[in-house]
Amino acid sequence: MTSNALPRCCIIGAGMSGIVTAKALTERGIPFDWFEMSDRVGGVWAFENPNGRSAAYRSLHIDTSKGQLEFADFPMPADTPHYPHHTQVHTYLQSYVNHFGLDKKVTLQTEVADARRDDQGTWRIRLGDGQTRSYDALFVCNGHHWDARWPEPAYPGKFEGVQIHAHSYRDPFTPHDLRNKRVLVVGMGNSAMDIASELCPRHIAQKLFVSTRRGQHIFPRFLLGKPADKGKLYPWLPLSLQRTCGRIVYKLAVGRMEDYGLPKPDHRLFESHGTTSDTFPSYVSAGDITMRTGIRALDGDSVVFEDGRREKIDVIIWSTGYKITFPFFDETFISAPSNKLPLFKRIIKPGIPNLFFIGLAQPSVTLFAIADRQAKFVAAYLAGEYVLPGLDEQKHTILLDEKRHMSRYYKSARHTMQLDQDIYFDELDRELRKGGKRARALGFSRARPPIPRRTEENVRVAEAAE
Ligand SMILES: Cc1cc2nc3c(=O)[nH]c(=O)nc-3n(C[C@H](O)[C@H](O)[C@H](O)COP(=O)(O)OP(=O)(O)OC[C@H]3O[C@@H](n4cnc5c(N)ncnc54)[C@H](O)[C@@H]3O)c2cc1C
Repeated sequence: MTSNALPRCCIIGAGMSGIVTAKALTERGIPFDWFEMSDRVGGVWAFENPNGRSAAYRSLHIDTSKGQLEFADFPMPADTPHYPHHTQVHTYLQSYVNHFGLDKKVTLQTEVADARRDDQGTWRIRLGDGQTRSYDALFVCNGHHWDARWPEPAYPGKFEGVQIHAHSYRDPFTPHDLRNKRVLVVGMGNSAMDIASELCPRHIAQKLFVSTRRGQHIFPRFLLGKPADKGKLYPWLPLSLQRTCGRIVYKLAVGRMEDYGLPKPDHRLFESHGTTSDTFPSYVSAGDITMRTGIRALDGDSVVFEDGRREKIDVIIWSTGYKITFPFFDETFISAPSNKLPLFKRIIKPGIPNLFFIGLAQPSVTLFAIADRQAKFVAAYLAGEYVLPGLDEQKHTILLDEKRHMSRYYKSARHTMQLDQDIYFDELDRELRKGGKRARALGFSRARPPIPRRTEENVRVAEAAE
């Protein structure tokens, strides 16, 4: 059901976050244009797509189990393994798009080059080909795993070997042949563990080192015979009690990291973003991966570590994470210095009620479910079923939520937007109920939504191209 009063929206990006947004808006009859710079949908999961932004490597399997990944109204095929390969995740997203008729709505190979908000709150969008368009609301779904973060400041000294960021790693032969090389992987996140595990067997790298400033607790994919991410958090039970139970299970099933030859973490379990690998601890325990401390300096053909050790290295793979950037915004208007961008309910920047960030979070389980719920939340808002609280309450809620979701994590650019999934969903549901009451009291409805339509009809790019 469409309504002439509903705002016209623009969606930037057709990765998973853009896809669930397009679906949520379609379900509510909210009009939108949807731009994707690549020639296909799927973002990260579209391996080697021409936008050059996918960080997927050839062997990548998603660390989220199938049961957590699939959307309730579109189950994954029954023969999908517990932890699908990236090609299966991409096929799933493409089938989802086709099944819900979203393939007809996306405009591919069209970059949003510039987005600015005028004094009336209307979004003025400039596309890569120079066309300009106007919208009442803007969804930012441009992903946050594409702008490689290199160590800042750079380590002292000069390295004469090859250096790549994990973002460009594809397989042991691409972009460099790593056979018989002395390779150093820097970092202990999920990509670092996958890449180190792939390269360390003796027929590939000559020697594989991993450098880390601090140890991490590593989760296996299966715990007590079930996918490890199946564990649920209950909003009505004290979180500290639930975490204590989790720590006991982990201790019994996995044991201590140092017993595998891994560095002892300087924080407790659940105080860093989860890392998952079945192979990494066993390769360390077998001596195929050699752990080293953080880096002190680079020195020609060698790397010097904080404990004074020195190793000759041919190739460094920096697995040092990503920067959150929005190239289409003026940096003075919106940016995320040190990866920080406080948002109301991790979606809305106070003071800009018609701008929505979808999937800009670091979830405890999966971004798929988070983005889906966020998109549905905003669609309800745009359809007049919800209205935001006042600015002071938004800002206060951000502080409370950050305390709840993030205070237990150690300080790092990795931990600026953590969300405990089940707790977050409960909070979104409550907020929707509270905002629904506010909307009814203020007389908002589908016919009179809080973000009204002001813009003229844009000619849809897809239609114009037909
Ligand atoms: C190696 C790796 C492993 C991961 N493993 C998991 C996992 O196990 N579980 C999990 O839940 N998540 C995982 N993730 C996180 C992953 O980012 C999310 O699963 C999800 O793909 C994010 O979707 P997105 O749409 O937000 O971003 P993306 O997938 O990055 O999609 C963004 C899209 O926006 C487009 N775009 C960007 N800018 C513009 C513009 N200006 N104009 C037009 N189009 C634009 C891009 O071309 C892209 O298609 C992993 C990420 C990586 C890199």
